[in-house]
Amino acid sequence: MSNTTFTMIKPDAFAEGHTGKILDMIIEGGFSIKAMKVLRITKEQAGAFYAVHSERPFYNDLCSYMSSGPIVAAVLEKDNAVADFRKLIGATNPADAAEGTIRKRFAKSIEANAVHGSDSDENAQIEANFYFSQLERG
Ligand code: UDP
Ligand code: MG
Repeated sequence: MSNTTFTMIKPDAFAEGHTGKILDMIIEGGFSIKAMKVLRITKEQAGAFYAVHSERPFYNDLCSYMSSGPIVAAVLEKDNAVADFRKLIGATNPADAAEGTIRKRFAKSIEANAVHGSDSDENAQIEANFYFSQLERG
């Protein structure tokens, strides 16, 4: 499944009305949208999604932040999707994000960094399954 990745437009970027511009950048970047929805998750659900980070000092704040308002969740397709999408979004910390990346343009901090992108093919699959049923993913 190296042609699939998973993204979220995070609460601050959604609330500030950047969704359209971010989706434009994703589509201009050559990705097609296989599934997409707007939803709000609970802190517990955010905790499950980010369970891999449960021992990190930022985990509790991250889970509060990710449940603070609506997000967009989407499954994306492109050749080499995971690596190409990480390149399009830029570094986790916007201070380190390259010019022209989504995080450089829209991230406000290392936490409120506008978008999520899967870090491996395996996690893309797990993350897409977390948000979407087989039927929704087509
Ligand atoms: N994060 C944070 N502080 C940090 C590192 C990460 O608040 O020092 C948040 C940030 O929202 C990031 C998410 O935790 O996107 C997941 O961290 P990860 O290291 O997986 O970064 P990503 O894969 O999103 O670039
Ligand atoms: Mg990550």
